[in-house]
Amino acid sequence: MNIVYLGIGSNQSSPKKQVERANQSIDSLPNTKIILKSSLYETDPVGFKDQPKFINQVICILTKLTVEDLLKHCQKIEHMQKRVRTIIDGPRTIDIDILLYNQEIIKTDDLVVPHPRMHERSFVMFPLKEITTTINIPGIKNINIMVDKLDKNIIKKINE
Ligand code: ADP
Ligand code: MG
Repeated sequence: MNIVYLGIGSNQSSPKKQVERANQSIDSLPNTKIILKSSLYETDPVGFKDQPKFINQVICILTKLTVEDLLKHCQKIEHMQKRVRTIIDGPRTIDIDILLYNQEIIKTDDLVVPHPRMHERSFVMFPLKEITTTINIPGIKNINIMVDKLDKNIIKKINE
């Protein structure tokens, strides 16, 4: 079994429902189960600002899928939810990123894991910290010091 953290985001077409749908699809993947889910967070867009706020979540899954197969399945789910790629960091119905795959460092044309910008992103690191007290990101030292510097004000936990 592999322990994998996924980052999920949406800011189009009822984002909470999109994230919930993605959760159900991920939980239904072959030999895969969600074991931990963060709360949903409402977050300000990063990069391209002139777009609706995002709903973000981090989940932890156990899976027998290889990282390549998992990426393909995640892309299929994005496709099912009619994700259209337009501008970089622009609006999307659903985005599923592989943040961590065990403690492996993977660098191929299609895949960079740990996700290269995860440690700089409030909308990844705060939900991640909610579900894991001991996080280690291969290649990143002093992760707690780094997270302490991230802006908490651009994300808001949704309590429900
Ligand atoms: P982003 O998530 O950075 O906004 P996209 O979701 O459009 O961008 O992803 C573009 C490409 O990123 C995908 O085609 C995929 O092959 C590649 N990619 C590289 N590393 C990862 C990863 N860790 N998780 C998901 N996709 C990745
Ligand atoms: Mg992505």
